Amino acid sequence: MCGIYGYVGHKSEAANTVLDGLKLLEYRGYDSWGVAAKIKDERLEMKGGFLTEKHVGKIGDSHLNFQLSTFNSHLAIGHTRWATHGGVTVANAHPHTDCKAQIAVVHNGIVENFQELKTYLLKKGHKFISETDTEVIPHLIEENLKREGFASSVRDAFNALRGLNAIVAVNAGSSEIVVAKNGSPLIIGIGDQEFFVSSDVIGIVEHTKKVIFLKDLEMVILGNPPAGGIQLLSLPEGNKLEIKPEQITWSYEISTKGKFDDFMIKEIHEQPNVVRNIAGNYTSQIEKLAKEIQNSKGTFFIGAGTAYHAGFSGNYLFSKIAKIHVNTSVASEFNYLEDFLTRDSLIIALSQSGETIDVVEPLNRAKKKGSKIFAITNTLGSTIYRMADYNMLLNAGPEKAVASTKAYIAKVSVILMLAYVLIGKTNEAKNILLKTADEIERLLSETTVDDIKKIAKALSVSKNVYAIGRGVSYPSALEAALKIKEVTYIPTEGLAGGELKHGTIALISKGVPCIVFAPMDETYESVISNAIEIKSRGGVIIGISPKKAEVFDHFVEVKDVDSGSYIAQVVVAQLLAYYMAIDLKLDADKPRNLAKSVTVK
Ligand code: GLU
Repeated sequence: MCGIYGYVGHKSEAANTVLDGLKLLEYRGYDSWGVAAKIKDERLEMKGGFLTEKHVGKIGDSHLNFQLSTFNSHLAIGHTRWATHGGVTVANAHPHTDCKAQIAVVHNGIVENFQELKTYLLKKGHKFISETDTEVIPHLIEENLKREGFASSVRDAFNALRGLNAIVAVNAGSSEIVVAKNGSPLIIGIGDQEFFVSSDVIGIVEHTKKVIFLKDLEMVILGNPPAGGIQLLSLPEGNKLEIKPEQITWSYEISTKGKFDDFMIKEIHEQPNVVRNIAGNYTSQIEKLAKEIQNSKGTFFIGAGTAYHAGFSGNYLFSKIAKIHVNTSVASEFNYLEDFLTRDSLIIALSQSGETIDVVEPLNRAKKKGSKIFAITNTLGSTIYRMADYNMLLNAGPEKAVASTKAYIAKVSVILMLAYVLIGKTNEAKNILLKTADEIERLLSETTVDDIKKIAKALSVSKNVYAIGRGVSYPSALEAALKIKEVTYIPTEGLAGGELKHGTIALISKGVPCIVFAPMDETYESVISNAIEIKSRGGVIIGISPKKAEVFDHFVEVKDVDSGSYIAQVVVAQLLAYYMAIDLKLDADKPRNLAKSVTVK
């Protein structure tokens, strides 16, 4: 988690460039933020040193009171934090510095041996001012600088860290940015007389399309052009590596809100085209994955949160359509379930960011067993993308809202098409997806959205909410509950309709709302019976279905688009969640305590 950004080059507003970059990365963590810029200014007594500015909370419109923006600077680094070690305070915000505030470091990850390193550094006389694990890094560099140059001091400090980490370090005595990583993502942007470093390519596309996706155990030294160039080195040794930049195709516009108030609602509205893209352009990739499934002895979907729900719907869709058994596991639990994996097993890893540590870990273990890995991600060059034997990019465009919407719809669309391809019905899948895209478009029309807004208003005053479904709609209920929890903080439980009587119905009393997914399939009658059971105990029923039932207090019609109904019906829940958050005056894009890309355990 956390966003890292750095700039060195000809522009004299390095601090502002970094602040703008951090704004684009804020989805990765927003507990606090900070920038360190190398300043030469006669207003300051200190010449050639660093000025560091840190704040608690989200960046918001900080250009207004961002002190560093008043100074000329050609080199700056910044960080937006998702705290792991140490509370959310200014002192714990990054960048962290050494004893003399001459070295500044931003960090993504957890230094697992920080206690041990801190004890060693304290004995050497270093003074610490934060509670973070990160602070050991500038002090280690300071210690190393006594006997070697800056870049090798950073390298040796990085080599001493245990865990999955990415760091960017600068030093008042040098005009270089030194970057090292083993775990969290870092991308280098190569511009005209300038370099950028960012946790996500969206922080770079506005400036340049020429990038390097750093691999694990690589470090980069970025000098101030034209005198200083770029060097890529291997870790731990520091041997020179050849630089092979890639050209990216994303445009800057797709990472802005456009006419929408929030990214979440913008991304919900992008979904018809996401589904159409999969219907139109994915046949050969999906056929390749289908072959892998046919050749494997055991296929497993793994994912975390929303991605897990997408995989879980695959359990049902594969059984129902392809008559094939797959297993789905919460990625962080797969570590404890994979003792039986063999060379013939296939793991299909689902991850929007492609960085989710809970997915990366079991994949590393599965790789050791020789199992094949097929990654379905939305992020080119991400860790999971690179570690997989085969890849599929969702091409849904950057997803900025922390609560995932379009990536879920994209994953389920791929899985649905896969189930049909496995039985040779590719064209049927395409037609279903195209009809689904049209139905989602209809759901996003003003009239339907107005109806959904009214229901959201009623729901937003609830103390708790339930969502039920059966069969493929069970994962839909889980996803609906997760969306509502994430953006409204209202305790919401999604469950299989049949499970109600086994405990949860005890929580239903007068006025408690329950969202009921009732598509026109074999589950319709049973789930309506469950709705009646809830209503008999005073519950209020929100029916999402092609057919209005008497039991529904509120009804959102989702037309029957065959198995595509399982995709379209979730869009209603996404809209409910979003408009509930708006009614509650909450930040739908950046819910509390969450971060988009979970890169720490
Ligand atoms: N462990 C560091 C901290 O708590 C960095 C966390 C992160 O990657 O966001 O400050």
